[in-house]
Amino acid sequence: MKRSYFLRLLLIFLTLSIFALAAKVKCSRWDKNITFEEYLQKFHIDKKIIDTLDRDDQSLISEIGYAHKYYELIASNGVLLQSLIPIGEELQAHLFRTHTGYKLEIIPIEYQKDTHIAILSIDKSPHADIISKLKNRRLANEFTRVLKHSVNFRGVQKNDKIVIVYDQKMRLGQPLGVPDIKVAMLESHGKKNYVFKYSDGKYYNENGKALIEKYMGKPLNHLIITSPFTTRRWHPILHKWKAHHGIDCRARRGTPILAAADGKVVYSGWMNGYGRVIKIQHADNYLTLYAHQSRLKAKVGQYVKKGEIIGYTGNSGRSTGPHLHFGLYKNGRPINPMRLIKFTTNGLTGRDQQYFLKRKRKYIKIIKKIEEENLPSYVWNTVNEIYVLPKMKTYYQNRGW
Ligand SMILES: [Zn+2]
Repeated sequence: MKRSYFLRLLLIFLTLSIFALAAKVKCSRWDKNITFEEYLQKFHIDKKIIDTLDRDDQSLISEIGYAHKYYELIASNGVLLQSLIPIGEELQAHLFRTHTGYKLEIIPIEYQKDTHIAILSIDKSPHADIISKLKNRRLANEFTRVLKHSVNFRGVQKNDKIVIVYDQKMRLGQPLGVPDIKVAMLESHGKKNYVFKYSDGKYYNENGKALIEKYMGKPLNHLIITSPFTTRRWHPILHKWKAHHGIDCRARRGTPILAAADGKVVYSGWMNGYGRVIKIQHADNYLTLYAHQSRLKAKVGQYVKKGEIIGYTGNSGRSTGPHLHFGLYKNGRPINPMRLIKFTTNGLTGRDQQYFLKRKRKYIKIIKKIEEENLPSYVWNTVNEIYVLPKMKTYYQNRGW
């Protein structure tokens, strides 16, 4: 199914290229202040094209507006033949010209995911060394973020050691999105400080105790989630790719909506699909979004405190019933809000704890082996296993990874 999609895309591309030999592929950065409707206007495309999408996809279209790179195929006479505009890290809007007019659809972004292990000895600082040695600034930021609650970075000295196990998406030879750290370790003053990610998306210390991140408050006093956060997944009944960049919370019409953290209101108004929306910009490049409101209270430019009432729940936009859609973004990328909403500070228990400890032991064993045998850091492809040297592949298979 997926492959035929790309063959079709390629075919469209080729066909278009034959008929428009002088057509050019253009890569640009999306202007933050431009909505998708305004983009359509630029090429004299009727904005009613958005109505051809289903409700969920219309909401996704309103998320276009961050500074992402996007691609256009433009004919020599300036006519837009095709454009691919990313929505988050997983999906993209595909706008293309056919003989019957323009069509719009949401399709997955093609990428490859590799698992890396990096073992570094510190020269300057963990952050600076990750950038200079691994050429990955986002990885450096993530490493600092996941370890900052269990390590004092000021005590780090030259020749201290760091280990990172992480997944990195790659597209056209470039890293795509934020690396997903599975294990982070900093060895300082002879003490190893480990952090592990569990399948719930949260980080825990070696004993399975939760690490308190900078948690946000709940956007409603009583939070009952009716639809969870998902990045792309294939919908078996609708036969299309879907994503839900936020959580839906059950709430009677008119329930007060609370600011999840201190911040500045950067949007208060109507957004296609999401109806009446408030967006709040917080510290550390976090942004929260509160959709489908019946009444907006907070105004653009206003500073709000955590827990302050910013509006009231409703059913505006493309919504089937009164509820709050709550979204969380970091640097313009959707992340699961549950990651930052505090429910419990307890560690893992029962089966979760057992599974966590088993997984932890496996990771530590492999890291130890790499250290002992002085292997270079490597790339291990979890999807196709094509980048692995044959020797390496057997090596990891033998260790049950
Ligand atoms: Zn929703």
